[in-house]
Amino acid sequence: MHRGNPKAMLGLIVCLILFIAAAVLLFQAVPLLNEVHLTANATPSPTPVWGNVMVVTVDPASGTPAPSLRSGQSGDAVLNLQSRLKALGYYTGELDGQFGPGTLAAVTAFQRENGLEADGIAGPETQTKLFSASARALMSTAVPAATLTPDPNRNVPYETSDGLPLLVNRSHPLADNYQPLDLVNLSKYCDSSVVRIKYDSSMAEREAVDALMVMLRAAQRDGIMIWQVSSAYRTAREQQSLLDNEIKKYMEENKLDAQNARSAALQTVAEPGTSEHQLGVCFDITVPGVSFKGTSQHNWLKEHCWDYGFILRYPEDKEKITGFLAEAWHYRWVGVAHAQRMRDEKLCLEEYIQRYGTW
Ligand SMILES: [Zn+2]
Repeated sequence: MHRGNPKAMLGLIVCLILFIAAAVLLFQAVPLLNEVHLTANATPSPTPVWGNVMVVTVDPASGTPAPSLRSGQSGDAVLNLQSRLKALGYYTGELDGQFGPGTLAAVTAFQRENGLEADGIAGPETQTKLFSASARALMSTAVPAATLTPDPNRNVPYETSDGLPLLVNRSHPLADNYQPLDLVNLSKYCDSSVVRIKYDSSMAEREAVDALMVMLRAAQRDGIMIWQVSSAYRTAREQQSLLDNEIKKYMEENKLDAQNARSAALQTVAEPGTSEHQLGVCFDITVPGVSFKGTSQHNWLKEHCWDYGFILRYPEDKEKITGFLAEAWHYRWVGVAHAQRMRDEKLCLEEYIQRYGTW
């Protein structure tokens, strides 16, 4: 019988004290192991979007908790991210610690180049890869680096003062005095082993033509060799004669009266002042002698044009919004950052301008 044994009671009390002391120490250590960083006014949320909430992951450099970084955030962690992206050739903008469209484009390009999900969010997997020795630098030929960041001081006529692509459609006609910036003659300017220019007189803005050539060279590296540009810059006068010809065709071939022929023609030909071709940054890209839709060229462009700063301007599922029947061949230069964002968010230009009217 041990009941009431004073030695046993003393042992039990000592054990209890030691146990409580250990529990207190462990409790104090727990917050250090699970430190959670939230910015000043942030509210914790299981699925943070577009806000200031930072989700805790592990910093690959120090092994301590670090946040996922995404558009709209700012601070030293973003600065660090930009520096690393810059060192690898993905980021060409200012090191300002602001996660803007340039940083987004750089993160997305890095993810794509490194076989990660290209969601533009620098989460744990992306950061681990980015800061590791095995991070792949940007191939110098993949994307024209100078176009990754929209620069509000560019002041080119085909962009707004905020660096957004200028919207031209039926309700947003171009000003009568619209002046192109720097037109080049495609036949003289472009390498004829890369692209055939259907009409010798075709002109377009130099910047867009440079981007086009980078894109088509990349396509050729993927084995898609034959390319043609069948339309580029058009003046208001050329646009008018295109429309007149189309109206005439409907009147003669379909026996429509003038008013109905005009309505029919306007389904596919824009009125003067409302065609993007007057900007000089659009190309009708085709294959000589065949219908473009469904060709390997069409399939390649649909998938890759965004990474070279071009958008499929009139997609099938946006006809009601653009007001144009789908055009598989019409590509508009907007710059890499905008193009990738439009692709990722599945927006046509009208929707994009509405959503991001100001950066
Ligand atoms: Zn076109």
